[in-house]
Amino acid sequence: MIRPKTEEEIELLRINGDLVSRTLAEVGKWVAPGVTTEKLNEVAETFIRDHGAVPSFKGFEGFPAALCMSVNDVVVHGFPSDRPLEEGDIVSVDCGTLYKGYNGDSAYTFPVGEVDAETRKLLDVTKASLYKGIEAAVAGNRTGDIGYAVQSYAESFGFSVVRELEGHGVGKQMHEEPGIPNYGRRGHGARLQDGMTICIEPMICAGGRGVYIARNGWAVHTADHKNAAHYELTVVVRKGRAEQLSTFDYIEKDGSIKF
Ligand code: MG
Ligand code: MG
Repeated sequence: MIRPKTEEEIELLRINGDLVSRTLAEVGKWVAPGVTTEKLNEVAETFIRDHGAVPSFKGFEGFPAALCMSVNDVVVHGFPSDRPLEEGDIVSVDCGTLYKGYNGDSAYTFPVGEVDAETRKLLDVTKASLYKGIEAAVAGNRTGDIGYAVQSYAESFGFSVVRELEGHGVGKQMHEEPGIPNYGRRGHGARLQDGMTICIEPMICAGGRGVYIARNGWAVHTADHKNAAHYELTVVVRKGRAEQLSTFDYIEKDGSIKF
């Protein structure tokens, strides 16, 4: 039985959601050709700690950094590195915070400079598929309704959905029940209840959906080495319409940065 969160808990998750959202926007200001993902990681860790929070990924099951930095064919869980980003790359940045005992978790794929039209489309479709998933995250629906919404949208553009990884409940733990797959059948899976807090995070591939894990045990690559994108938001399930606890507005509506 999955326990919906109290309004007090939701408020703490909202504070965390706001902090991860603003952290991703700080990172976004630095994304450019020539910048390393180690630098982006440093910017994020400083920002999170300056706000009295802890980067929850650092040390999680041995993960070595504050943020996951996944470039091009890396879907998720990439390590920051000293390789400078290049014009035309994409970098998926996944950020987690821990503040007052609760977790924040969101991700955004940034283009580095100008990207080709197909890559731009991959980013737009992946983000739109996330919003399709959020539309389905209403009380009375099931997790399969979210997965169906994401999958049917992404596949209608000829892209493919990673099956091995999924979204999740979030609260005192970074990953709680239920799992939120990005594929599925309508009317199947766990029932969504008012007050459940979940992370929806489509991982969408430009080519095939096959993936493998790198020798470091973490970075998930596409098998065909085509690009993959990853966007994640935290929401609270409500009757009629989910409420977002994190947002991309700081990235996209700031005015100074255009993604
Ligand atoms: Mg995440
Ligand atoms: Mg997550």
